[in-house]
Amino acid sequence: MGDMSTDGPTIFERIVAREIPADIVFESDSLIAFRDIAPQAPVHILVVPKTAQYRNVAELAAGDPALLAELVAVAARLADGDYRLVFNSGADAGQTVFHVHGHILAGGLEEGTLAK
Ligand code: 5GP
Repeated sequence: MGDMSTDGPTIFERIVAREIPADIVFESDSLIAFRDIAPQAPVHILVVPKTAQYRNVAELAAGDPALLAELVAVAARLADGDYRLVFNSGADAGQTVFHVHGHILAGGLEEGTLAK
């Protein structure tokens, strides 16, 4: 389940390892959060478990529900107000990095824009 060893490190593992730079806004033993390189809202932060074990949120929920709960709590804190927390799951849903991550989107969001 979610073993990335044959795929090589994802971009997010390389950010965790400080091999590539990122605008990191939060870090704990288990999570890292940094600003998305191509923001789609005034606030667009990615919250990422450091482990590469889980490819998507369903795998994370099944494998480590406490870590998912921690991710959600950190997202709420970082958003500092109302926010969306989006988990693209699968290529046809727009997922491009197969290392589970939540998108915190906040600031100037409107009703009816969920999938835009
Ligand atoms: P996904 O499409 O998999 O849900 O989200 C991947 C996100 O990672 C995209 O929003 C993309 O802009 C972001 N991203 C990809 N490469 C980098 C990078 O090198 N640095 C940062 N900060 N974000 C990245």
